Amino acid sequence: MINFMDVEDKQSDSSMTLPCGRINVLLPIPVSQYYEYLNEDLSLRIGDLVEVPFGKRYLPAVVIGSVEGQVEVSKLKRVLSKYDLPRIPEEMMNFVVWVSAYNMVSAGSVLKMVLSAPQALLPPRRIKAFVNAFDMQKQGVKLTPGRKRVLDYLADNKTRTVQEIIEFARVTPAIIRGLQRSGLIDSVAITEKNLIETHKTKKVVTPVFNLEQGKAVSKLLNSLREQTFNVSLIDGVTGAGKTEVYFEAISEVLKKEKQVLILLPEIALSQPFLTRFETRFGFRPGQWHSDLSGKIRNQTWRAVFEGEVSVVVGARSALFLPFSKLGLIVVDEEHETGFKQADGVKYQCRDMAVARARAGQFSAVLVSATPSLETLINFEQGRYNRIPLKSRYGAADLPEVKAIDLGKSNLIKGQWITKRLVDEISKTLERKEQTILFLNRRGYAPLNLCRACGHRLECPNCSAWLVEHKSISRLQCHHCDYAITMPSSCFKCGAIDSFHAVGPGVERLEEEVRFRFPSARISVASSDTLSGPVRLGEFIKAVQDSKIDIIIGTQVIAKGHHFPLVTCVGVIDADLGLAGGDLRAGERTYQLLHQVAGRSGRESRPGKVFLQTSQPDHPLIKALLSWDRDGFLEEEKRGRRDAGMPPFGKLAAVILSAKDPRIVDDLASVIAASAPYSSGVQILGPAIAPIAILRGRHRRRFLVKCSKNINIQKILKSWLRNIKVPSNAKVDIDIDPYNFM
Ligand code: ADP
Ligand code: ZN
Repeated sequence: MINFMDVEDKQSDSSMTLPCGRINVLLPIPVSQYYEYLNEDLSLRIGDLVEVPFGKRYLPAVVIGSVEGQVEVSKLKRVLSKYDLPRIPEEMMNFVVWVSAYNMVSAGSVLKMVLSAPQALLPPRRIKAFVNAFDMQKQGVKLTPGRKRVLDYLADNKTRTVQEIIEFARVTPAIIRGLQRSGLIDSVAITEKNLIETHKTKKVVTPVFNLEQGKAVSKLLNSLREQTFNVSLIDGVTGAGKTEVYFEAISEVLKKEKQVLILLPEIALSQPFLTRFETRFGFRPGQWHSDLSGKIRNQTWRAVFEGEVSVVVGARSALFLPFSKLGLIVVDEEHETGFKQADGVKYQCRDMAVARARAGQFSAVLVSATPSLETLINFEQGRYNRIPLKSRYGAADLPEVKAIDLGKSNLIKGQWITKRLVDEISKTLERKEQTILFLNRRGYAPLNLCRACGHRLECPNCSAWLVEHKSISRLQCHHCDYAITMPSSCFKCGAIDSFHAVGPGVERLEEEVRFRFPSARISVASSDTLSGPVRLGEFIKAVQDSKIDIIIGTQVIAKGHHFPLVTCVGVIDADLGLAGGDLRAGERTYQLLHQVAGRSGRESRPGKVFLQTSQPDHPLIKALLSWDRDGFLEEEKRGRRDAGMPPFGKLAAVILSAKDPRIVDDLASVIAASAPYSSGVQILGPAIAPIAILRGRHRRRFLVKCSKNINIQKILKSWLRNIKVPSNAKVDIDIDPYNFM
C-alpha cells in the first residue's frame, strides 16, 4: 500500500500541560500515522520532544496531544523521558504536516528532516577545564617558562579548556597535569562551549546606498513592517548589490530579536559570503550544509532550537531546522534548480520556504538576476511584490555579449576553442586580467568508443555512459557509484587499446588551454575539484589574489562569485543543455548563460562575453546577445501557457521501479488501468523512463498534468490509494518535477 499523509487535526491549545494518560506522538520514521503511548507522570505539552521505545529501538518523538485511545492499556508502551529542550513551535509542526501533505510523503519522513541531528537532543557534554589557583602574593615558587605561560594565560580568572590552554599557551598536556598536581591550577567541569560564535565581535560596516538601492531598501522594509506573511522578489541584474539590499531587511528583523534564515544553493555557500556577512553585521552566522562536522552540526542544531543563533546561512536542508523564533527567510538565487531536492523526500525548497513563511506569518524574500518563471508569474498575478534593481552598482556596465558561429569557424578535430576566442583570451592575458571558460561537463570526456567495433562504455547498472575522469584515472557513472579503470581491450570485440574519447569535458578542455597558453596559470573548477566549502574558499581566494589567469569551470563557477578581474568569459558550447525534452531546458540554459555572462566586467574594467554556438539565430542566443531577459521570458511564457505547463498548469510525476522489468511492467499496467478520467486532468504514460535503468532498477514513468484549480494531490491519492505495490517494487511521487529523466 502506498503511504499517504493522513493525520487528524491536532488539539488547539498547545500551551496547556496534557493530563497524564494516553498521548499521540509523531515518530521520525517513514509512516503517516501517529503512535499511541502512555504517559504516566511526565509533565508534557504539545510539541515536547520525548523518548519512546519503538520495536527494539528507542526513538525521539514529538508530542501531538492527548488521545481517546484504541489500543488496550496493557499493550501500551510508556514514554520514557522528556528531553530538556524547548517545544517544537506549533507553526513548525503545522509546516511539517503541510510539507507532508503537499509533497505526498509521510509526515514521519519530514519530521526526520527536522530531527536531523539526533545527538543534539542529549544535554551538551560536560568537559574538563581549568582555572587559576595560583596566589600571586606567594613568593619563591619556581616557574618554568611553560608553566608561566599557562598561568599568564589564566591570570584573567576565566575558565579555559585543555584544548585552549594547549593552543594559546603552547604547552603539552603534561605541563597542565603538573600544574594541577602542584595546586597551581584547579580542574572544573563545564558544559562544552559552543563552537559557533553568535555574539558581536567586530565593528559593523553599513553601506551607503545609491538611489535605486535606497528605493529598494525602503520598499523591502515596508513589506517587513507589515509583520505578516508576504513575499518580495528582489529582481536585479548581476552585480546590482542585491545582497546589500537584503542585508538591510535582516538587520531590521534582528532588531526585533527574531531569527533569520538565508538559503543559498549548496555551491554558493562559501567563505566570501560569510566574510561579507561578518563585515556588515560584526558576527559570524551559523552555517548549515552537508559538509559540517558532527560536533558543529549538533551544536548548531541545538543553538538554533534554543534561539541562541540569530542567523543561519544554509543549503536547502536548513529549512527544516527547528527555529524557535524565525522572522525572515531569504532565498538567494531563487531560480536555482538545485533548490529542488530530487532524492528521498522530494520538495522544491524555494516553494517550501514560502510555505514556511506563511506558517509563521512573516516575510520571505526571493532574490535573483534571472527569476524563475514560477516566481515572475506569482508577481504578475499579484501574489508577490517585485523590487527591481536595473543597474550594476558603481561604475560597472553589463558586459558586451558576442556570438561566435561554430559553423564558420573551421575548428579542427579535437579542439574546441575558436581562433576568435583564442585571440580574446590572449588579449586578456596581456592586460593581466582573468578569463573564465565555461563548459558544463565534468571530467575528461562524456563518452568513450571502441575504434574497432563502435562499442560504447556504459554503466552496467544504469542506462548511462561512463564519464572519463583522467585526474583520477577512472571512468565513472554519474548516476551511481560504479567506476572502473580504462579497459585495455574492448569488452565486445577484444580489440586492444581501442577506446577513444568523444567530446570534451573540462579536463580535456584544460589540455587544449595548456597547449595554447603554456605560460598561463590555469585552474579547473568543477564539483570534483572544489568539493566542499573549504576547497571552494581556497579557489576563490586564489582567483581574487590574481594567482589564476584562466578558469575552466562547470556551473560551479557560474553563480554568485564576484571576481573584479574577470573581463573575458567564453562559453565553449552554448547549445549544450538546449537539447532534450525537458520542460525547463530553455529557461535553465538561459539562466545559466546569463549568470555566467554576469561574471564578466563586474567592476571598473569593461567585460566581454563570447558564446560559441552552432545556432547563432536561436531566439535564446539572440536574447543573450542583447541582455533581453524579458523578451526571452515572454516567449518562454507563451510556450508554457499554450501547453498548459507550469506555472500555468500543475504537473506531477509517478515513477515506478523494480529490479525485474516484468514486475515493473505489470505494475505499470495495473496503475494505468485504474487511471482516473476527469476533465482537466491528463495522464501521460506509462513510458519507459529516459534513464530506463537506474542503479539496477528498471523504471517507468507517468506524468499527470492538470489545470491550476485542480487539487492534484487529491487526484493522485484516490488513484493510487488502493494499488497493491509488490514489496520488490517502488512507487515514487514527484510533485512539481524538475527532472524528467
Ligand atoms: P548582486 O548580488 O546583485 O550580484 P552584490 O550584492 O554582490 O551584487 O554587489 C556587487 C558588488 O557591489 C559587491 O562587491 C558589493 O560589495 C558592492 N556593493 C553593492 N552595493 C554597495 C553599496 N551600497 N556600497 C558599497 N558597495 C556596494
Ligand atoms: Zn550507474
